[in-house]
Amino acid sequence: MDRGAAVNSALKTARTLITGGHVLTMDPALGELLSADVLIENGSIRAVGQTIDAPDADVIDASSMIVMPGFVDTHRHTWQTAVRHCYADVDPLQYFAEMLGPVGAAYRPEDVRIGTLLGALSALDAGITTLVDWSHCMNTPDHADAAVDALTESSIRAVFAHGWPLAPEWTRDSALPHPADLRRLRESRFSAPDQLLTLAMAARGPEMARSEVWLGDLRLARDLGIRSTVHVGAYAHNARHRAVAQLRDAGVLGPDLTFVHCSRSAADEIAMIADAGASISLGVHCELNSAGMGDIPLDRILAAGLRPSLSGDTETKCSGDMFTQMRLLLGYYRSWTGGGHSRVPDPPFLGVRDVLEFATLAGARAAGLDSQTGSLSPGKRADLILLRATDLNLAPVTDPAAAVVLAAHPGNVDTVLVGGRTVKRHGRLLATGLPAVLELAEHSRRRVLATIATQRTATA
Ligand SMILES: [Zn+2]
Repeated sequence: MDRGAAVNSALKTARTLITGGHVLTMDPALGELLSADVLIENGSIRAVGQTIDAPDADVIDASSMIVMPGFVDTHRHTWQTAVRHCYADVDPLQYFAEMLGPVGAAYRPEDVRIGTLLGALSALDAGITTLVDWSHCMNTPDHADAAVDALTESSIRAVFAHGWPLAPEWTRDSALPHPADLRRLRESRFSAPDQLLTLAMAARGPEMARSEVWLGDLRLARDLGIRSTVHVGAYAHNARHRAVAQLRDAGVLGPDLTFVHCSRSAADEIAMIADAGASISLGVHCELNSAGMGDIPLDRILAAGLRPSLSGDTETKCSGDMFTQMRLLLGYYRSWTGGGHSRVPDPPFLGVRDVLEFATLAGARAAGLDSQTGSLSPGKRADLILLRATDLNLAPVTDPAAAVVLAAHPGNVDTVLVGGRTVKRHGRLLATGLPAVLELAEHSRRRVLATIATQRTATA
């Protein structure tokens, strides 16, 4: 019996039993279970196993489903979602000159809000239950509040990574410390212990700020008890700073840091990240689409003993969905290493289960949330997705992990739960007001594109 409708109508269901699915737990101790049940109690996973007896639970029939943890996206500039795909065919440096320059500077709080809301909702729709929102359009405190409001409204689990205002003095040899608004946010919006949102610093680091500044920024984040995430090593002009080495030399490299891209980071810097227990986020599709950025250094990362996380980066020039990141990474790595391009002597084998781990458990670790999400482990929050194994692009399923990595897409995502709350069921998001979200996004899109056009005319 499928009593999904009853589940949907409840904000929190006391007990839900997901029955008979092919369960990819991503928990090394539990592995993969054929025709197994998952019991959810008060938003957390209570048990995973064959034939769980819970007569009072609401039941979700998963007998034709692959059940797995929701994906974790560890770096997305969600605020840009309303202008998706507008940098498809231009020099990637134009994106930086415009979006992270005058165009971003002209973003209003409502542009940040609707971009972030649409991005978070579409992430949920695609099975991403945790999102590190890399929000570097913090022109005013109202922009920060708009982003936090949008993440809250979406019901996604998110790390709000608070960045800086988009003006040159913040990113070129900057002498300005991270906006003090971060402290206000910590106290006024992130003090409740049991919420879906946590706060982080989207830091500029040694590639953008002076040493006394990035040292002070890091101190601030640690004073506030929050993680930091920083772009490093993308493009030669950034990599020459050897940002990771600078942090190591300053004695501040630590496990609370996530480094984004590392495309041209030297091998010794990757080893420093591993030694410090820090993490890496690979924005695979955007990295492949951005000529000049550098390689995806997965061979070096794996050789250093690191397990990278994956991310959608900016949807202005790629797809944000995790299926795309996984599939491209696997193909890229096999082509790269198989073609003899690897810079490590014996590049490790990369299998579909490795890639699935990057997109889930490794992502949860990079987000600082692995005690809560990333695997279907008893005690963790019930962030999970059901994929229809009977869809024509997947059936008949021989190896569920391979099916997910090689062939699945967001349209196969039937059901999504975040903290036990159903946010997508029978292939449809349950959020109300989606037409209004799209309408507001269209207004924002037109306005931002007009700003881009004006900017291009002015610089022509
Ligand atoms: Zn980025």
